[in-house]
Amino acid sequence: MSCLVYIPQDIEAEGKNYLLERGYELRIGSDLSQKTLMNEIRDCEALLTRSMAAISKEVIAAGRRLKVIAKYGVGLDNINVRAATERGIYVTNTPEANANTVAEHVMAFILALSKQLMAADKELRKGNYEVRHQLLSMDLEGKTLGVIGLGRIGRLLAQKAGKGFGMRVIGYDPYLTANPDRDIEFAADIERVFRHSDVISLHLPLTEATKGAIGSREFAWMKSSAYFVNASRGEIVKEKDLVEALKTGAIAGAGIDVFEEEPPSENNPLFQLENVIVSPHSAALTTEASARMAIHAAMQVDQVLRGRRPEWAVNEPQSREKMNGPAN
Ligand code: NAD
Repeated sequence: MSCLVYIPQDIEAEGKNYLLERGYELRIGSDLSQKTLMNEIRDCEALLTRSMAAISKEVIAAGRRLKVIAKYGVGLDNINVRAATERGIYVTNTPEANANTVAEHVMAFILALSKQLMAADKELRKGNYEVRHQLLSMDLEGKTLGVIGLGRIGRLLAQKAGKGFGMRVIGYDPYLTANPDRDIEFAADIERVFRHSDVISLHLPLTEATKGAIGSREFAWMKSSAYFVNASRGEIVKEKDLVEALKTGAIAGAGIDVFEEEPPSENNPLFQLENVIVSPHSAALTTEASARMAIHAAMQVDQVLRGRRPEWAVNEPQSREKMNGPAN
């Protein structure tokens, strides 16, 4: 019997075809409840997951034949990587599929905010042509962009903002010992980045250490003319504090792709604010990047099921024989 790959949330045809052409059978999930995930994973050798399915310790334990959990995307916060590692299961992601796509989306937020496009569009449609004299938008050239997290996306954004728009870029990343890019001013102190920037953009992972790490203290450090952008993970930011900072004018506006609760309620207070532009966690979801994520995740499944070390492993699984006995 050929290997069975479980895909709880459907993916693009490109990724499924990659697997079907190599002889795998696919099981597309019926819903994302823990009960269903535990039931549907039972006889599968591989799991290919997007971000909405919670791949808990219990789900992983139910997958007795599981050899690989391939994430479609980068963030690993919906997967219990430690439980997978302990059970001898590879976890992979798709770091090269969407970084530039997210950086482009963030640049779009920064442009929409600094050029006041939301208000200009809304007012003109109402017939208010004179709004052109009331909306004082902002040049990006010569302004400072503060990037928190200088990984793939943070660095690509820095390049676009610096080389493309003439912005000065300062960056903070406590896990880097050296400056990753000569065009970025590397700051050892996060407060300095918040205080001196005209735009702050978050590009760090959601971990125990970063959960709720950005709140009223950080917004109070920002200039009242500055914009805040988050296309990393919603739970890194205390959303109530962000709403407060936006309402009181402590900051000028925000571009938000990710929310504390996803999907966000339609009553989310951010949706009531005019100085905010939002998108539905779609920064990575262009046609091109979606196909790349599907194919790259499918490649990882194939590599592991052929007995190879996957190209984008994020863990070093412990020996299955040692931990569990043979996974039959
Ligand atoms: P990456 O792993 O290349 O970079 C993350 C960087 O954050 C690393 O350099 C790390 O050292 C740094 N970091 C960790 N903790 C930090 C902290 N406390 N303060 C500052 N920096 C810290 O990841 P990436 O590809 O650049 O993606 C970044 C995050 O963006 C991902 O973890 C993911 O959650 C999110 N993301 C969101 C979308 C979306 O659709 N909105 C798409 C892709 C990725």
